[in-house]
Amino acid sequence: MSARDPIADLRRIAFLLERANEATYRVRAFRSAAKALAGLPAAEVTERAGNGTLTELAGVGDVTARCVSESLAGEEPVYLRRLVATEGSDLDAEATALRAALRGDCHTHSDWSDGGSPIEEMALAAVELGHEYVVLTDHSPRLTVARGLTAERLRRQLDHVAQVNAALPEGFRILTGIEVDILADGSLDQDDELLARLDVVVGSVHSGLKDERAKMTRRMLKAVANPHLDILGHVTGRMVSSRPAGVTGPGDRGHRARTRNESDFDADAVFAACAEHDTAVEINSRPERQDPPKRLIRRALEAGCRFAINTDAHAPGQLDWQRFGCERAALCGVPADRVVNTWSAEQLVEWTHARD
Ligand SMILES: [Zn+2]
Ligand SMILES: [Zn+2]
Repeated sequence: MSARDPIADLRRIAFLLERANEATYRVRAFRSAAKALAGLPAAEVTERAGNGTLTELAGVGDVTARCVSESLAGEEPVYLRRLVATEGSDLDAEATALRAALRGDCHTHSDWSDGGSPIEEMALAAVELGHEYVVLTDHSPRLTVARGLTAERLRRQLDHVAQVNAALPEGFRILTGIEVDILADGSLDQDDELLARLDVVVGSVHSGLKDERAKMTRRMLKAVANPHLDILGHVTGRMVSSRPAGVTGPGDRGHRARTRNESDFDADAVFAACAEHDTAVEINSRPERQDPPKRLIRRALEAGCRFAINTDAHAPGQLDWQRFGCERAALCGVPADRVVNTWSAEQLVEWTHARD
């Protein structure tokens, strides 16, 4: 038998989380699951893992059930493996190093869609932060609530960006882009010709977030396979808290903050497709999003995905939120060489255009 002891694995995870000073509720989840399993005959645990009924037990959730299944299959659970990989490292220093390695931001909004400030102001703030580039990714037409740009307005924006760039300091530039809606059928909400012309295309799901699993998975897989899509934005669509204090005003209409569950999709299939098509997974730094959750960042990392650590800033001050994404990336052991915005603007655009 190559099977591991799932209870020992759950308890080991709880111990490592405690030592890393992680939130108590998280630790408790693993301890409760270990306790629930300890009261059952081993044969029943195996049977429940086989037919997917572990989560019917009080104290066992999706994450812990997955760990148990992996243990029983003889694998070190992914969750445990990532914890061990980052154990003993100075996470604060790693987050700082990761932040320092970032040379730009691939997801930002201006007042052309639902941001609060003109493009020029966003760019100047990015210069002051030490960025070499910022990708302007205003919304696409279907997101009318966020004043999404029609093809015609986007063309005008491209002309305007060229003018703004000419006046910006040497060594910095605004890259053109879009946060394009992933429509219900998985197609992208902008003309192909324009998508091909843009430097960076972020694609996000903003509607039908409660679609059932198979439908949402198909939708995301189709988008990820689209050669124009470079970065998959705020992957689960979750909202973990209401709008952070002090963030008010015209920004964020398309990102209105209220608590929202993760959308349901086959994350392993989606991340495998991201790895296959070389589509980067966004680590969205917004405090109310924190998307994807860490367990999914770990899975994307295991799948071999690249990442982009973005702010999704709707105002200049929010451009400094990358630190939050870096902290979560460091907790999951994401190395800088997997993060596309550690590249120069030239390298980044070379990568995106090689994919169109
Ligand atoms: Zn969005
Ligand atoms: Zn956005």
